[in-house]
Amino acid sequence: MKNPIIDLHCHSTISDGLLTPTELVNYAKECHVKVMALTDHDDIAGLDEARLAAKDSGIVFINGVEISVTWNKRTLHIVGLNFDKENDNLVNGLKEIRVGRDLRAKKMAHSLGMAGIMNAYEGARSYAKNSTIGRIHFAQFIVEKGYAKDIKSVFKKYLTPGKPGFFDHQWVTLEEAVTWITMAGGDAVIAHPGRYDMGNKLYPKLFSEFRDFGGSGVEVISGSQDPSQTNYFCKLANDYNLLGSCGSDFHGHGISHRAMGSVNIIPELCQPIWSKWHHLIESIH
Ligand code: AMP
Ligand code: MN
Ligand code: MN
Ligand code: MN
Repeated sequence: MKNPIIDLHCHSTISDGLLTPTELVNYAKECHVKVMALTDHDDIAGLDEARLAAKDSGIVFINGVEISVTWNKRTLHIVGLNFDKENDNLVNGLKEIRVGRDLRAKKMAHSLGMAGIMNAYEGARSYAKNSTIGRIHFAQFIVEKGYAKDIKSVFKKYLTPGKPGFFDHQWVTLEEAVTWITMAGGDAVIAHPGRYDMGNKLYPKLFSEFRDFGGSGVEVISGSQDPSQTNYFCKLANDYNLLGSCGSDFHGHGISHRAMGSVNIIPELCQPIWSKWHHLIESIH
């Protein structure tokens, strides 16, 4: 197959997506996706279910995760792909991040309480259920209570730096995240670099440090970044010998702009990350 539809970034109910792993894979199939990775925030509990569903759907499944990192006083997301999901360091590292996420959620709830929004932890928990809690669950609760009209406005009003529900949490370091992924035999990828708004000095610094820690690739195109940035990131990826990755960052109907499989074409000048996995991709028909 010449240009199979490949989507290496999406979320299920294991983190802040709206579809279960099985529903997500079925939806990917409807979107004609041939290769996919499930990349829940700091959690890999959906991989077994998704892999099974993908097998039934004839989709090539790649293990994935999206790790929250603090670098240069800002939060970045690093996607891990095609790793051994039983690797102890990775499993334990992710477990620790999730403990931190829960503490962060309690601190967010406390400051939302000071702003008059009571019981936000319990409210967000009712949306997260037993899964990994995140800002989207708070947003869903805040919309339910009528403090904002939609998820987007909750983020603007409450959940971003300087706003009452934001807590400046320390995630793991870039080096830790990249090392866990690579030591588990996987490839580390900088997620949606266009979202970080870092300017022409910091991007090269990030790409170069990331490469030195053992990172493999960059999402040159993503459902959560502006397509006009693709060429800039392709060029920078080439400068630092990083491969190109792509994904919709699909979270669910109504909260994602892009369908699964819709952010798929990597420009010619950038070598795709899946060129490393030809043994897996060869089987696509
Ligand atoms: P967290 O990892 O808990 O801090 O939450 C980050 C997630 O919140 C992202 O992966 C998106 O799903 C979501 N998010 C971040 N910013 C926005 C926004 N402005 N509007 C809607 N969702 C957002
Ligand atoms: Mn998310
Ligand atoms: Mn992200
Ligand atoms: Mn994501």
